[in-house]
This record gives sequence, structure tokens and C-alpha cells, in this order.
Amino acid sequence: MKKIGLYVHVPFCVRKCGYCDFYSITELSLIDDYVKAVIRNIKDYQYDTVYFGGGTPSMLTASQIGRIIEAASPVSDAEITIECNPQSSGGDYFRELRDTGVNRLSIGLQSFDDETLRKLGRLHDSQTAVQTVFEAHDAGYENISIDLMLGVSNIRPDFDTINNLPIKHVSAYILKIEDNTPFGNDKTLSFPDEDEVCDEYLETVKKLDFPQYEISNFAKIGYECKHNLKYWNCEEYFGIGPAAHSYLNGKRFAVLRDIKSFINSQLQPTYITDENPGGIDEKLMLGLRLTQKGINVADCKSENLQRYIDAGMLRRSENIITLTPRGALISNSIITDLLC
Ligand code: SF4
Repeated sequence: MKKIGLYVHVPFCVRKCGYCDFYSITELSLIDDYVKAVIRNIKDYQYDTVYFGGGTPSMLTASQIGRIIEAASPVSDAEITIECNPQSSGGDYFRELRDTGVNRLSIGLQSFDDETLRKLGRLHDSQTAVQTVFEAHDAGYENISIDLMLGVSNIRPDFDTINNLPIKHVSAYILKIEDNTPFGNDKTLSFPDEDEVCDEYLETVKKLDFPQYEISNFAKIGYECKHNLKYWNCEEYFGIGPAAHSYLNGKRFAVLRDIKSFINSQLQPTYITDENPGGIDEKLMLGLRLTQKGINVADCKSENLQRYIDAGMLRRSENIITLTPRGALISNSIITDLLC
């Protein structure tokens, strides 16, 4: 039987952050019914990665997480990740999680600046976030990742702190304000301008003591996120929970963004998002995200290729094309041009 990834979308948050357009709700009383529905929807595949994403997966108790893992029955050496927010986790929780089989933590630290955290609507301060990382480490976790947000405050003074944390992986995403969010509608908010954000990104790539392996992801060798690599390598995964996506049996599909229908249906309601995935456009788009693996030159016939190599946005080594850090900043335009 082939091995695939399992993604569980946990759509619960204590409150909604102003910039967030992920599917999440604050009706925590639905958690129990949600867990039952997740378990009901688990299919009998061999899972070699399990990823609890959100929302705020650490809103689930360790026992609820454990019941889901037990039902999924992943292979013995599976990578099992849970995203945790500092305000809803801590030493005791991490110790309980270890007994469930969770072996990788992704902690949403976001920023070291308390004013920025307040502006973002996060419920923790920077001291709690750093303490949470150490508590995770003290609880016996060595595979710890942190999430950082670029484009909101200056992260440069914190590179030393980050490099000295007991972590193996950093995800650093540039904040993108979507129109359909409170931040998108609030014209009084101000954020660093584009040039400033580009400089911050380039310096992050340079100063982190973690090799970059994807546009927004950095890891010590051997600690790249196996689950997320499945997305970028066009491998199969099964998603459970409202708004979760899947790539399975040659189709891409998604679950409706609606907790009630998820809880009340015997089988989660899904709709097809791509009948014929795995085309060359998708391979280019996903392959180029991997800053070391890249794409094979034979897969790209575009006459724009050389132009981007000459401009220092792409680099060619033998037959492999990869994005440079400057190219990563405009990856969407480059990919569009390469598809012409
Ligand atoms: S905690 Fe995460 S998922 Fe929840 S509202 Fe904030 S950004 Fe969105």
C-alpha cells in the first residue's frame, strides 16, 4: 500500500486575528463533535506523515489528539506534527502530547516585539513565546519549528536569539493582507513598505543559521518538514476537516468551509478543485518553491528562462534551475513568465 500524508484541519481559535483568512471559528463548544467527525472520516491508508494545522490545533486536548492519531494508525516512524500557539500550550501539554506519538512541534511565535504581537491580535507576548520553545525542548522535543512573520516589524535584532533557540526549523512568511479581512478593510493600519520587507527577507535568508530549502522555510539538515515536502513534491495527501485540501487518486479536492456540515455529515462534504493535477505548470510552480531542488531545465521551454538567469533571479547548475533569494521575492511573476 502506498504511503501518503494526513492533514487534519483544526478550525478553532480563541479569537480571530485581524489579518487571518484561514477557516477558523471561535465556537469551542463544537470541539468534541468535531473530533468525532474527524475520526469518522479517517480512511484506511498508510500514513507516513500526520500534520495538525489550523486554526489552533493546540485547542484540542492531548487526549483528543491521541484519539485521532490512534484512529489514523500511522506507520511507526511517521512524522507527526502539531501547530501550537504559545497561549494554548506549555510544558505539561507537551509532555502529554509525547505520549500520543506527536514528535514534531510547530510553535507560532510570529514576532519578538510585543507591540507587533498586540497589533496582530496575538494573545501571547514574546517572553511567553520564547519560554514555550524552551518548555517544548525540556519536555523532550528536539524537532521543533517556529513560525515567524516578516513584513510587520523589524526582525533583524532577533537573529541571534532565533539562532540560539533549541529548534531545528524556521518558517518565515511575509504577511499578506487579504481584502476580506478586518486588516484589509482598515485603512489606518500601516506596515513597512515593499523595499523594507524585501530587505528584511533577504537578510533573513542570509543571517539564519538554518539552510533555506523552500521560499519561506529553513531547516537544519535532515529536519526539513516531511509533510510539507509532499505538497511541494506533488505527492499525495489526504485532508480532513472543514477547508482541508487533498490530492488523492489523481484528483485535488477540498472540504467545504463549514463546521456544521462537517460535523453533521457522515462523510465530509467535498468538491473537486482540480480534475487533472500534476501538469507541467504545477510542477514548475511547486518545484521552484524548493530552493535547492528546483526544476529540470528540460521541463521549462520558456525563452524567458535565460533573461531571469542573467538578471540573477534564477540560477542554473548543470540541468537544474533554482530561484535565488531575490528571485524568491517575485516568484509568482517569474513562474507566470516561465509558463508563457
Ligand atoms: S490564531 Fe492563526 S488561525 Fe487563528 S485566527 Fe489567528 S492567524 Fe488565524
